[in-house]
Amino acid sequence: MISRRRFLKTSLSALAFAAIPKISFSQSNPDVVVIGGGSSGLSVTAELMKKGKSVLCVDAMSRKGGRCFTNTSIFGVPYDLGAHWLHNFNFNQIAQYGKKQKDIFDIYKDPDTVMIYDGQKKIKGMKLYGLYKKLGKLKNKTKDDIPLSNKIKEKWLENEWFATAHQIRFPCESGKDIDQYTAADGKLNWESYGEGSQGGDGFVKQGYGALLAHYRQNVPVQLQTTVNEVKWDGNGVKVVTNKGTISAKACVITVSTSAFNSGKIKFTPALPIEKYEAYDAFSCSNYNHVTLQLKDDFYKEYKVKPDMYFTPKITTKGLKSPEGYCSTMNLHDSKISYFDVGGQFAKDLEKAGSKAGIDFVLQTLRNTFGSDFDKFYIKGHMTTWGKNPFVLGAWASATPGKADLRKNIKTSVADKLFFAGEATAKNYGTVHGADRSGARVAKEVLSFV
Ligand SMILES: Cc1cc2nc3c(=O)[nH]c(=O)nc-3n(C[C@H](O)[C@H](O)[C@H](O)COP(=O)(O)OP(=O)(O)OC[C@H]3O[C@@H](n4cnc5c(N)ncnc54)[C@H](O)[C@@H]3O)c2cc1C
Repeated sequence: MISRRRFLKTSLSALAFAAIPKISFSQSNPDVVVIGGGSSGLSVTAELMKKGKSVLCVDAMSRKGGRCFTNTSIFGVPYDLGAHWLHNFNFNQIAQYGKKQKDIFDIYKDPDTVMIYDGQKKIKGMKLYGLYKKLGKLKNKTKDDIPLSNKIKEKWLENEWFATAHQIRFPCESGKDIDQYTAADGKLNWESYGEGSQGGDGFVKQGYGALLAHYRQNVPVQLQTTVNEVKWDGNGVKVVTNKGTISAKACVITVSTSAFNSGKIKFTPALPIEKYEAYDAFSCSNYNHVTLQLKDDFYKEYKVKPDMYFTPKITTKGLKSPEGYCSTMNLHDSKISYFDVGGQFAKDLEKAGSKAGIDFVLQTLRNTFGSDFDKFYIKGHMTTWGKNPFVLGAWASATPGKADLRKNIKTSVADKLFFAGEATAKNYGTVHGADRSGARVAKEVLSFV
């Protein structure tokens, strides 16, 4: 018999994507229009609603969650197309919410187990760890706003594990290669925030997107509503969408920096130049999941524990974007494994298409586990966030030399245009950071509306 706990857990996906109340524009014009129903937009909407404000949150996509969304149809198990790690686990307010919903969510700390391969040989990887630590130290110590590649030692490049350490520290952590990465921006995230990366990471078996959807289940979003223009001359704002024009006292913009930079939302009159400069300096980095569903026999034969990190040696030379991935295998024991690509290589692979991405990963697995590896393969999928017109990348990341402009992304304009989203958060590039940015902006809005 299906237990209550099991029933709740299995019916979760239905709840997460259940029909969302429709709001008609004729319902009268709201106090505030929120553009974007991702983590930050849902947060600002919830906070303003709590304070009795009328809010209309709109999103161009046909679902809530933005870059934090769990798909259950591709593999028949929860599959996070975007965010997956519950970062800052001990302090993450969304994880804390989920931990209280024991009937619905299985939330646990990242077991942090690793298997490293040099070709077909499983190794301890001490050389890799040594270099990985050096790159981490460099990242933390450097204050200069320059490409971090300017600071690396020539002899590190000769180390046979350089490309692998580069991959883990840069494309996987920031979606950027070391020559596009400025440690001055990293500083803001890991040090000025105080809590830094303490608390490690956690996972939620039902998917981070499903958890976010539950956390914000009472927040209505008007879907498939694309904002084309924000007119902010005169009184209040007029938000022009494909479904009509909404008048409001204020507007909160939560779209990704690259969606903003695409110019799809026109501002009339134009925003102050500093705003465009700041967004432009922080366009989105590149990061995608190539995901394979593999037979249980594979995980058994190679003793792959749930959520185990798999690191095969990458042989790309010098500073070139590493042609490889960071893999998390057998996610939550669901038999699907991520092979995450980042930086320029991710961009190239996205351009080449999903089949090329899956073929690339399969070839590396044949190289490691034998030419007959395909006997374990069931199905593959690759995300293409850079092609999603309403996101256009992974998360905001500083252009070297311009890290200081991040603070200008979040400044309000004329006491009626407000800016939230992961790029404006202290814990930027994360779901819980985006959520906190929504709470910050709600307070700001309340002093004017
Ligand atoms: C592959 C990948 C892996 C990631 N992994 C992690 C992770 O493990 N842990 C973690 O914490 N974070 C991770 N992140 C980052 C995290 O997903 C984001 O930081 C966070 O979800 C961003 O939320 P947001 O509200 O700022 O933006 P979004 O989620 O992008 O929300 C903005 C919304 O605006 C909408 N929009 C855009 N243009 C318009 C328009 N013109 N009209 C109407 N609506 C519009 C979009 O449709 C979107 O829904 C990952 C991201 C990616 C892409």
